[in-house]
Amino acid sequence: MGHLKLHIPGPVEVSERTFQAFRSPMIGHRSQAFKDLYGRMQPKLQALLYTRQLVYISTSSAWGVMEGAIRNLVAKKVLNCMCGAFSDKWFDVSKRCGKDAEPLQVPWGSPIRAEAVDKKLATGQFDALTFIHNETSTGVMSPMAEIAALKRKYPDVMFIVDTVSSMTATKLEFDALGIDVMLAGTQKAFALPPGTAVFVCSPAALAKAATLKDRGYYFDFLEFQKNAEGNMTPSTPSIGHVFALESKLDEIFAEGVDARFARHAKLAAMTRAWAANHGFTLFPDQGFESVTLTCVNNGAKPGGRVVDVPKLQKLVRDQGILMDGGYGKIKGTTFRLSNMGDETEVTMNRLYAALDNAMKQL
Ligand SMILES: *Cc1c(COP(=O)(O)O)cnc(C)c1O
Repeated sequence: MGHLKLHIPGPVEVSERTFQAFRSPMIGHRSQAFKDLYGRMQPKLQALLYTRQLVYISTSSAWGVMEGAIRNLVAKKVLNCMCGAFSDKWFDVSKRCGKDAEPLQVPWGSPIRAEAVDKKLATGQFDALTFIHNETSTGVMSPMAEIAALKRKYPDVMFIVDTVSSMTATKLEFDALGIDVMLAGTQKAFALPPGTAVFVCSPAALAKAATLKDRGYYFDFLEFQKNAEGNMTPSTPSIGHVFALESKLDEIFAEGVDARFARHAKLAAMTRAWAANHGFTLFPDQGFESVTLTCVNNGAKPGGRVVDVPKLQKLVRDQGILMDGGYGKIKGTTFRLSNMGDETEVTMNRLYAALDNAMKQL
């Protein structure tokens, strides 16, 4: 049976191999078999994220850990760096957690820059900030290194970083960056089914969490640490995801992480070239385009070609491929093409061919 091939920026296409692992027979989550499974994965997760900290597995989508980070780490006031739908939402979530929060808003399509963050942190009002490395709604990848470098100037501020659509696709050296929390959901660049998140905390984040009294239970970072020390999770995890994650880690290291990063960069460059060849401009400011998806400008900003996006989507769908038609307030005035996960030059060329076909019929 054929199915619609996903080229939306999450959830992304899941391979047969991953599904095979996902449907492994269940084991008890307190069994030695589970501890052995998590224990086998731990060094691979640590190598992938360039960390010596224990990497946690949370049965939730990314938002669970994003909300959890606010509850675990914000005592005084959080600075929410905002440049698109997901980063804007984190401000709302911070307030819903009853926290004092302040936005640092830049126009959609622009990145977060260190200079603006520095100015805010210099007020001394903040003990945490949220930052989205790859804003999936706008296709903007903000410069992680320059933001993370501020941590040295503000060691008491907790740097909470969403790498939901960049983790595994580009090099994220957690320990060297010096940030405090880094998280991702599995349905984006990991190319696993949705429903699980992977995250890591600095020792400073764990120490800070210990001072907060209303961390709750399900997302209590200290529970994750305590359990991970015994190769377990605080509550019953989605065990299928854990099997699938092990299988994916094997694939990632068989390909080689550097080759994987290079593949994502190359495929994104191919998509940008496709857009330029068809007269489109890109939505992100030049130099800040994502390596996992391309957000094509379609009237949101001046310049470039404009097409009927719902019609384009339908024509592409008729060829068995699901593409995205833009997110939130830039729905229809942008569209997004994902290359994250298991995509190759062959599969991307199929997408471009379907798009070419559709464009002829517009
Ligand atoms: C998809 C996404 C989220 C939200 O993930 P959920 O799985 O819906 O919780 C958050 N941040 C970014 C950057 C995303 O791409």
